[in-house]
Amino acid sequence: MEKAILSKSTFIKGEQCLKALYLYKNNYSLRDKMPAERVAVFNRGSRVGEIAQGLFPKGINCKIGGPRQYNKAVEKTLECIHSQEKVLYEAAFIAENTIIYLDILTFENEKWHAYEVKSSSKISETYILDAALQYYIIRQSGLEIADFQLIYIDENYVRGEQLEVEKLFQIQDVTEHVQHLYGVIGDKIQQQLNALSKSIMPETPIGIHCRTPYDCDFQGYCWNGIEHIAFEIPALDFEKQWHFFEKQQAGFSESEITDDIVKRQFEHKRRKKDFIQDSLLQVFTEKKEPYIFLNLLTYCPAIPWFKETKPYQTVVYSYYWESVSSDGKILNSSMYLSDMVTDPTFFIVEKLSNELNGHKIISFVDDGILPPAFDILNIIDLKKALIDGNIIGYKLKNYSFDAFVQAFTGRNPWYKKLVVDKQAGLQYEKEFIEKSDLQAIKENISDYHNDKNKYLVKTFFNFLKTYSND
Ligand code: SF4
Repeated sequence: MEKAILSKSTFIKGEQCLKALYLYKNNYSLRDKMPAERVAVFNRGSRVGEIAQGLFPKGINCKIGGPRQYNKAVEKTLECIHSQEKVLYEAAFIAENTIIYLDILTFENEKWHAYEVKSSSKISETYILDAALQYYIIRQSGLEIADFQLIYIDENYVRGEQLEVEKLFQIQDVTEHVQHLYGVIGDKIQQQLNALSKSIMPETPIGIHCRTPYDCDFQGYCWNGIEHIAFEIPALDFEKQWHFFEKQQAGFSESEITDDIVKRQFEHKRRKKDFIQDSLLQVFTEKKEPYIFLNLLTYCPAIPWFKETKPYQTVVYSYYWESVSSDGKILNSSMYLSDMVTDPTFFIVEKLSNELNGHKIISFVDDGILPPAFDILNIIDLKKALIDGNIIGYKLKNYSFDAFVQAFTGRNPWYKKLVVDKQAGLQYEKEFIEKSDLQAIKENISDYHNDKNKYLVKTFFNFLKTYSND
């Protein structure tokens, strides 16, 4: 069997940047450590794939062994095709030194039909390209397929008592698109294989492609030493940051910036000065102890957890609060973790209303938007204050909780196990569905709450001490 040099993911990497592909294959150790947030998104994708198999149940899984044993998967796929099995999962095909695994292959009305699952609610150009590669390799390996379809999440689906897989997903026929690209895919594969066969790395300069469509794993290597104020303006997305960077080199002036928050973030960075809006500072300084710090764990699951919720809708499934004296001593605390049987939103709001009884609550809602039911609580969301420009930290690089702690304490948070809300949400979802180790996830979540609240308290007091004296 021919050697697999490219795969679907390395092909997409090569299309994004040939240098990234070259580094991945030849200097893997130069890769950045993958952020926990990205690992969580990646793992969420595989869970969606498993659920989508419910659209075509009782299939045979062709993926056997690890990635290096692709020959076994290809052989198994061939056997299943010869015996005309009705449904195959992870069918493997190889041609032109490229291996692909197709999520679902079905045999109906004497024809083969290909399906690829996406854990997204939109179809992007990259998904079409990815489908075109699969279509090309399947055909080059000798199998004729009647059509190619993408399965993706219907964002308007509202869950009933049970999850209805047929309603959760939408299916779009992209056969015309992949046939249209058929002629160029072979050239693209050859271009990538050629680049890999050379002893010299392609010289690709940095650019927007470093984060589009995906964050490149080699930014630490290629961007080493590249510094520019535009890349530290949290109110700008990367594309805009890059435009500012390029334009400034061509003589663009910051005075041309029209967005008020962007303008102020630029100004405060230049002056190396933080800012807090007077009325907000007043709220903080006139607050008498106990100070209440609340950590809410939110998650936007692709597969809705509860009846009457939609895909990606924010779910608040756990909280932890501490009341703290002005010298930082914990006076009282409480934690809650939902059992995931019903949507805990109203229960949590009611419990917090009773426990915190009208107090002003300091929080940092890191992921998603709080459901409107939370409006009755007196929550001061520091993340929202950053986004709205009511707090500006001249050292703040983005709006994440860790960046907030870093900007106002000068230290990076350290966590026992879970390090980011998305990771906690995914692990909680997985453990509760599989019911494998509930005690472990409870402990992890409790530790995560404690870790985050400790940094929230520290950052807030640090912040207050510094800026209320300004
Ligand atoms: S950081 Fe940019 S230039 Fe470097 S390999 Fe990645 S995409 Fe290519």
